[in-house]
Amino acid sequence: MPEPAAVFAPIDHDLRVCGLVPGAVYAQLGTLELDPELVADPEPGPAVKSLAFHTQAAVLENLQAIKGGRPWPVCQGKHPHPMSLASDAEGGWPYWYCPKNPSYRFAVGQHPGG
Ligand SMILES: [Zn+2]
Repeated sequence: MPEPAAVFAPIDHDLRVCGLVPGAVYAQLGTLELDPELVADPEPGPAVKSLAFHTQAAVLENLQAIKGGRPWPVCQGKHPHPMSLASDAEGGWPYWYCPKNPSYRFAVGQHPGG
């Protein structure tokens, strides 16, 4: 299975650059049950995508409870929506993209902040 740090580090990065405290967000996430198939996969991509998905859901559902909470990940500075999550290939590394302009995208863990 991928190292937990390998799965959490990219998400931590994308939270921090957007002004969110990872610990405060994970507190809202609660107990996360990752699909055993993801945990068994030697490639971290699918587990990272799953954690990114659940983390984003926790942020969007708990904006009021999270210090500095706002739609995450921030999109192009001025867009009011959060970025969308996808991956190109089965098992590929996931990325964030703008739902209005899909050419605006960043690999999870490489969000530029905002
Ligand atoms: Zn956008």
